[in-house]
Amino acid sequence: MFYQPRQLDEALRLRAQMGSDLTPICGGTDIIVALNRNGHGPKHYLDLSHVEGFSEVRRDNGSWELSGGTTFTKMGLLPVRALAEAAMTVGGPAIRNCGTIAGNLGTASPAGDGCVALLAVDAEVELTHATRGRRMIPIAEYFTGFRKTALLADELITAVRLPADWRTGWYKIGKRGSINISLVCAAIGLSPAGDVRIAFGCVAPTVIRAKSAEAIIARDGISDGAIEAAALAAMKDVSPITDHRASASYRRAMCGVLTRRILRQLRDEQAAGVQP
Ligand SMILES: Cc1cc2nc3c(=O)[nH]c(=O)nc-3n(C[C@H](O)[C@H](O)[C@H](O)COP(=O)(O)OP(=O)(O)OC[C@H]3O[C@@H](n4cnc5c(N)ncnc54)[C@H](O)[C@@H]3O)c2cc1C
Repeated sequence: MFYQPRQLDEALRLRAQMGSDLTPICGGTDIIVALNRNGHGPKHYLDLSHVEGFSEVRRDNGSWELSGGTTFTKMGLLPVRALAEAAMTVGGPAIRNCGTIAGNLGTASPAGDGCVALLAVDAEVELTHATRGRRMIPIAEYFTGFRKTALLADELITAVRLPADWRTGWYKIGKRGSINISLVCAAIGLSPAGDVRIAFGCVAPTVIRAKSAEAIIARDGISDGAIEAAALAAMKDVSPITDHRASASYRRAMCGVLTRRILRQLRDEQAAGVQP
């Protein structure tokens, strides 16, 4: 059965009633690939692409709130550089027009570009149940293992919320200019209060933060010496594997390179008074 509700309440009710028998589908850019690969799919689908207001983007009290169905094309227009640039590296235009932030979080791939960008700004994920209501999960607690998350089988990912005033940077290393799965990607966020978040994709079973690298910048500021120390620490914070795309040692080395590159860029922009 293919359910196609127009209202979020109806979608939430169906999900609460049918739980894991009902698989949400937003843009379908991951699900359809899996369906083609496996040759069989879920029992029932819950198509969220017709739900009214499910792709809205709002600015509210210093935060951005993106509804779950916000596409990469839309995210590419946001003035949050890490997220906008991450979005514009996803697939090609057709994938970006369909693929959504809820789908990226639902798949929870360690290569999820949107997930890495959200991790770098301490975003919160809104998970909603028809009767229990909404709960906000800090993104750092959302990923619980390889493609495992805090989402329950009777909930939907309804939105993400992120601060609007962080300075951010992003870089992705891949083999091609487009339709380019990351070999390594990195996003860094600096809050106005001096918090720093250094996030990577493709170097652990989940997207991760380089916490010892963060601690160095939080303690010493973004000096040349601290950047160098943070780059070395970042290489130790990650646990990449070798696969058909790249070796573990290359990925580890690139974590140092990207940490150095993005931190220098953020420091230079801050010094030049460039607005986040
Ligand atoms: C050619 C190609 C290139 C790609 N390139 C990239 C890339 O460069 N970077 C990248 O990060 N990804 C890439 N992807 C993967 C994909 O586009 C993204 O992961 C995208 O964000 C998935 O969103 P979707 O809406 O299409 O998800 P769907 O396929 O609809 O769903 C994905 C998963 O999320 C769940 N889900 C969806 N919506 C919800 C919801 N509201 N609540 C709960 N669960 C939900 C689904 O049940 C499913 O498990 C690529 C895919 C293709 C086909």
